[in-house]
Amino acid sequence: MANILIVEDEEPISNLIRMSLCKTGYHCEQAFDGETAADLIEEHTYDLILLDIMLPGIDGYELLSYIRTTDMPVIFLTAMGTLEDKVKGLRAGADDYITKPFEMVELLARVESVLRRYHKNEERINILDVTIDIPSRTVTRDGKPITLTMKEFDLLLFLVQNKNIALYRETIYENIWHSDYMVDGRTVDLHIQRLRKKMNWADKIKTVYKIGYRLEVDPDEKG
Ligand code: CA
Repeated sequence: MANILIVEDEEPISNLIRMSLCKTGYHCEQAFDGETAADLIEEHTYDLILLDIMLPGIDGYELLSYIRTTDMPVIFLTAMGTLEDKVKGLRAGADDYITKPFEMVELLARVESVLRRYHKNEERINILDVTIDIPSRTVTRDGKPITLTMKEFDLLLFLVQNKNIALYRETIYENIWHSDYMVDGRTVDLHIQRLRKKMNWADKIKTVYKIGYRLEVDPDEKG
């Protein structure tokens, strides 16, 4: 279930959006000014931010440049419908743009479309203290690369894509070594040990008794 932040200073509009999104099954939080929004964005990860341009204090453009340092997609909400504003918003990095007043069905369609596009094109994953770039198969921490073998990278990605799930050794073996017959469980164990050491994730990649392994990521942490 996607978690959406609504940044809008007009309470009736904000509440209307919240109600419509809730009914569709999204989880929503509201911020009525830029400062509160910035605090929330600093502390939480949202799947999408609906951002009004005209806000008291920090306005939508300023907030957008701050949001761009994270990985969260943004749809601009604005009463200003000129082409110039639209271009400015999209240039500043908004993923989409909707002009007030709008029909809720239109907003919902845009929300869905941005969420779909965003997840499908996910090429970079920020998780815990690292960034994983899938096309180039690189992992970096604070911009510095962590050197992994091909199998170690595959294993890392598999753990990340199944975070907080206990994975059987056999499942890991089948997915990483593309074989449905695990000759020796120690192959998996050895790679996990190497990965823990290289990633410095000894406390993150947990051993699950009699099953296998689980990458533990706190929901409040990034990822
Ligand atoms: Ca406003």
